[in-house]
Amino acid sequence: MAHGHPNLTVLQNARAEDLLTELRKKETSGADFRRKADRLAAIVLYEAAKNLTRVDMLIETPVSKSTQPVLLQDKPYLLVPVLGAGAAFVSGFNELDLPGGGIGYVAARRDHETHIASLGYSRLPANLWKYKIIVGEPMLATGGSGRDVIGLLKGLGAEDITLCCIIAADQGVMEMQASHSDVKIITAGLDRFLTAKAYINPGLGDFGDRYLGVIPA
Ligand code: URA
Repeated sequence: MAHGHPNLTVLQNARAEDLLTELRKKETSGADFRRKADRLAAIVLYEAAKNLTRVDMLIETPVSKSTQPVLLQDKPYLLVPVLGAGAAFVSGFNELDLPGGGIGYVAARRDHETHIASLGYSRLPANLWKYKIIVGEPMLATGGSGRDVIGLLKGLGAEDITLCCIIAADQGVMEMQASHSDVKIITAGLDRFLTAKAYINPGLGDFGDRYLGVIPA
């Protein structure tokens, strides 16, 4: 069981649970699915921001001078959504408005016969060690694409990576623990099982197809 995994945070938030239930329902579709997924992804990202390092700074309110926390800006933030499904993390990342936040991306395509994802086009800045990186991978099923994307980022120098998910499966969490034990995982939901076709069960089906609202050829 992935519960108790040292790097795993499963959201404990009533609104997040409610949004996840809406996404799981097969009748939720189109713009409604996108809106709810964007909201839930934003809550996951806020959880990722919860423990960012702060430093105290002297500021002036309209009333007096006061020492207050601000985010330490030692490294810029970089969101790396795993496309297409990871597009769901873009609006929440903008909402979070992190200092110096930028967006790169990696495309991954899942073979429906083998269930193995292969990585495609990516657009990333150089010198990834300079960034605090948030990878947006909505469905961590077998963990294969998450493992490969993070391997790609580390190959380009990335050192500080958090993986944000909508649903993680036990198997995906275990795979991440085996291949990238330094990476923190934050997820709105944790499901136990995968189907024979490597879908998360009960899950919510194909996140990318439902989020993008298109049936692939
Ligand atoms: N990707 C999805 O979109 N859904 C799953 O259940 C597993 C991988």
